[in-house]
Amino acid sequence: NTFHDLGLNEDLLHAITDLGFETPSEVQNKAIPILLNSETDLVALAQTGTGKTAAFGFPMLQKIDINSRTTQGLILSPTRELCLQIASEMKLYGKYCKGLNVVPVYGGASITEQAREIKRGAQIIVATPGRMKDMIGRRLVDISKIEYSVLDEADEMLNMGFKEDITDILSHTPDDKSTWLFSATMPKEVASIAKNFMYQPQEITV
Ligand code: AMP
Repeated sequence: NTFHDLGLNEDLLHAITDLGFETPSEVQNKAIPILLNSETDLVALAQTGTGKTAAFGFPMLQKIDINSRTTQGLILSPTRELCLQIASEMKLYGKYCKGLNVVPVYGGASITEQAREIKRGAQIIVATPGRMKDMIGRRLVDISKIEYSVLDEADEMLNMGFKEDITDILSHTPDDKSTWLFSATMPKEVASIAKNFMYQPQEITV
């Protein structure tokens, strides 16, 4: 099957052609139709290198309103490197989504500069938990209109001690958003996040 069969729009298909992706990977085949066609929560067991960024990235790019400057998508990831990598992939995937602004937010760089980028209107923020919590505390970012949140490498984020930061961040987002959790493993700490912050999630394993 093809990316077209999964229901992706022309802007995304155009970018996919440019990137040279020929067929969807397994996690993409399983996650994309679910995320495009429902507002469900999702728990996906998937390792890195399986194409999981596109598995949540394509549906998020298709579902957000690009004509609005409101922050609608929030992707949390464990490290600065991963945060930057996801943001640059999202920009590539969304290169034909006119007006799209994806902003990475992470520690060890100017918070003022990141706040300025957000003020210009970021539909999607990709963040590490510590810096995100800091920005919320300083009221430099408004995530009260988030519709889609992703917890990427959830097991790693919990291993790194981000549980409280994640809890705090999610408490500033609306209850009716969708949450998509991706993790390579499912220890009980991850299962408990899914239980406490998600509503009847669909589950996929690759
Ligand atoms: P990820 O697991 O998201 O880190 O993706 C691993 C790598 O595979 C990234 O460099 C992607 O650009 C690439 N990739 C993702 N999906 C596909 C696909 N369907 N076909 C070929 N390469 C892909």
